[in-house]
Amino acid sequence: MNARVPLSSGFVNGDVSFWYRSSGVPEPGPRLDGDLQADVAIVGAGYTGLWTAYYLKKARPSLRVVLLEQEFAGFGASGRNGGWLTGDLAGSHERYGAGARRLQREMYASIDEVIAVCETESIHCDVVKGGVVNVARTPAQANRLRASMAAARAWGIEEADLRLADPAEHVRVAGALAASWSPHCARIQPAKLAQGLARAVRDLGVPVYERTPVTEIAPGRAVTPYGTVTAAYVIRATEGFTARLHGLRRQWLPMNSSMIVTEPLPASFWDEVGWRGAELLGDMAHYYMYAQRTADDRIAFGGRGRPYLYGSRIDARGRTHEWTVEALWRLLVDFFPAARSSSVAHAWSGVLGVPRDWCSTVHVDRATGLGWAGGYTGHGVTTTNLAGRTLRDLILGEETELTSLPWVGRRVRSWEPEPLRWMGVHAMYRLYRVADHRERSMPRTSALARFADLITGH
Ligand SMILES: Cc1cc2nc3c(=O)[nH]c(=O)nc-3n(C[C@H](O)[C@H](O)[C@H](O)COP(=O)(O)OP(=O)(O)OC[C@H]3O[C@@H](n4cnc5c(N)ncnc54)[C@H](O)[C@@H]3O)c2cc1C
Repeated sequence: MNARVPLSSGFVNGDVSFWYRSSGVPEPGPRLDGDLQADVAIVGAGYTGLWTAYYLKKARPSLRVVLLEQEFAGFGASGRNGGWLTGDLAGSHERYGAGARRLQREMYASIDEVIAVCETESIHCDVVKGGVVNVARTPAQANRLRASMAAARAWGIEEADLRLADPAEHVRVAGALAASWSPHCARIQPAKLAQGLARAVRDLGVPVYERTPVTEIAPGRAVTPYGTVTAAYVIRATEGFTARLHGLRRQWLPMNSSMIVTEPLPASFWDEVGWRGAELLGDMAHYYMYAQRTADDRIAFGGRGRPYLYGSRIDARGRTHEWTVEALWRLLVDFFPAARSSSVAHAWSGVLGVPRDWCSTVHVDRATGLGWAGGYTGHGVTTTNLAGRTLRDLILGEETELTSLPWVGRRVRSWEPEPLRWMGVHAMYRLYRVADHRERSMPRTSALARFADLITGH
């Protein structure tokens, strides 16, 4: 590893994520053992699959719901993310059309719903609703921040939901020129939420078959090497891994996101930077970062890394390139020079699903019984809960407030075949990097970033 990054003596690269360090990476539970009949088969035991199973069983205890997971519950992005239980929608409001305001309100309410279920089910996932701060560190970013505020107002996001803040009000980031503040975000420990949910659904009588990869999804069945589950409804909850399934390689682009975590920082550090609560922290760069103060006083700091592997390949155990670890560390100490005396304890990566229009979808086709939810574009921690409740209503055939939300049943075109896909995504991130650099000395958003958005539909 690069000598310019101070690594702890026990530094770990990959091994799923830091979030499993205290409990140990789970030993997968029993496999499916032979053919099975169910009412609903759910493929993938991340938050989407787990929430769907949870709400279905709560609504209809007699329903036979089965979860099929290739590794263990919480192996994917749900056990690796930045722990932002955020009210932000994936993609632009415009693309959701007329009902976007209602969808936004449901997103805000979903944060409290997750917190309430955690309380009811005794899921201890270090949740604290401390809000979110976004900082701007160049004049162009500051202008973008102000413009985003005006756009938010147009979409019914009020001052109480999102406002400009003094850059020193919540967290003092070096070089911050402007900041925004929203109360609609909570900090969680992601793996504890995934594991807690898995326990809750098992307690409700849902078998979670682990080490059971689904090789084929078809109307009425999910096929695995260990048996076939026959079910009226088969729900695909595989998000960033979807490209591996037959015929779905171009549906959602598997985008990498990478994180590092420091050793615990002393009280003097938190006093100096004024980060007193569990506020989440993000920025307005094109090549953006996201961070949380963990329950044990570390900074978990994430960003893009190597965004995409040719042919939609997935690097599943989370090992992270040295270059990415160094880039994240450099940015972290640029934000917080006082963290320079710390070291990096763990680095990891995961995949999230990005649709061609960067907006999420939930869908059940009642004729075939096939359904799915995903394309959360890095905003899935809260959205998966809304997806789970919406899938429940769609499967039960109930027309509710949720089933009329504008993300239900959206049809989105596929990504381009290779090598165009790889070229487009890499061009986008290269342009974003150059644009961020240029914006250090210009007041407006760089034309390069606008061009990057244009070619990838961001
Ligand atoms: C590093 C990182 C940071 C992020 N930070 C945030 C954040 O702070 N806030 C936020 O809102 N979002 C964040 N996200 C995104 C968020 O984590 C995801 O949107 C969300 O977890 C998706 O949940 P899911 O259940 O749909 O998918 P996953 O959690 O990826 O679950 C899919 C599951 O399906 C299983 N699977 C896949 N294929 C098969 C198969 N063929 N057979 C059986 N099982 C299969 C996988 O093993 C996996 O367990 C982040 C993502 C990453 C990678």
